[in-house]
Amino acid sequence: MIIENSKTILSVQGLCASINGIEILKGIDLIIKSGEIHAIMGLNGSGKSTFAKVLTGHSDYEVTAGSITFEGNNLLELPPEERARAGLFLAFQYPIEIPGVANTQFLRLAYNTIQAQRGKEELDPLEFDDFVREKMKLLEMKPDFLDRSVNEGFSGGEKKRNEILQMAILEPTLSILDEMDSGLDIDALRIVANAVNHLTNKDNATILVTHYQRLLDYIVPDYVHVMQGGRIVMTGGKELALELETRGYDWVQTNRQSISGAIA
Ligand code: ADP
Ligand code: MG
Repeated sequence: MIIENSKTILSVQGLCASINGIEILKGIDLIIKSGEIHAIMGLNGSGKSTFAKVLTGHSDYEVTAGSITFEGNNLLELPPEERARAGLFLAFQYPIEIPGVANTQFLRLAYNTIQAQRGKEELDPLEFDDFVREKMKLLEMKPDFLDRSVNEGFSGGEKKRNEILQMAILEPTLSILDEMDSGLDIDALRIVANAVNHLTNKDNATILVTHYQRLLDYIVPDYVHVMQGGRIVMTGGKELALELETRGYDWVQTNRQSISGAIA
C-alpha cells in the first residue's frame, strides 16, 4: 500500500556492481518506502538476482559506484550478518541446505539473534516451539519440518515455504523475495503468497523479484520496475506487469526512452 507520511526504508542511488571484474549493475536508482511492495521484473540475466545479492552484501560482488541507504544508515559499510540484524531479509532463488542442523535450531538461533539486536526477549527451545508452530500454520507446514535438517531433501516448494517461515519469524523491515514462485505449484503459490500478504504491513516493505506476472496476481505490487542490462529501464504501477505479459519484454526495449522519460 502507498501511504502518506511513510518513511523511506531503502534508498539506492547510482548503484554499480561487478563480479570478477565484469560490471553487472550499471546504475540503479530505487526508493522504497514503508508499506510498499515493489516488483522487479526482467528477463533472465538482466541482473535481478545480482541486485538482490548486492543489497544483502554477498561477498562475490564488488560495489564500484553509488550508495545504498537502509533506514538512514549506510548499508555498504555493514557486513551481511549486520544487514540481516538491521532488518534486511533475502529469500534465495535457490535456498541452501544445511545438513546436520535441525530447522528448529537454525530458526531459533536466527530469531534470538534478531531479538537480542532489538533489545527484546529471547526464547528458550520450548517457548520457541510454541511460537514457531503458530507461524507454521500460516504456511500450512507440518510440524515434522522442525526436526529435519535445514532444507535437506526438501522439495522446491518446501524450501520456499521454509524461507517464508523465516520471514514470518524474523519480521524483517525489508524482505527481498527472489523468484519466490519458481518451482511452486498453484496451491503452494497461493499459500506462500497469502502468508506474504499477511506479513506485509505499514511499517515494512517487500521487493518481489520475478520474471512472471503470475505471482503478481496473488501479491499485488504498488510499483513494478523492469530491469534490463543491469538498469531499471521502466517503472510503473501494477498494470505494467500486465502490459509486459501481453506485449513482452521486446516492447520495453522499443519504448524504454519514451516511457521512462514520461515517468521522470
Ligand atoms: P537475473 O536474476 O535477472 O536472471 P542475474 O543477476 O542472475 O540475472 O545475472 C545477471 C548477469 O550476471 C548475467 O548476465 C549473468 O551471466 C552474469 N553473472 C552472474 N554471475 C556471474 C559470474 N560469476 N561471472 C560472470 N558473470 C556472471
Ligand atoms: Mg535471478
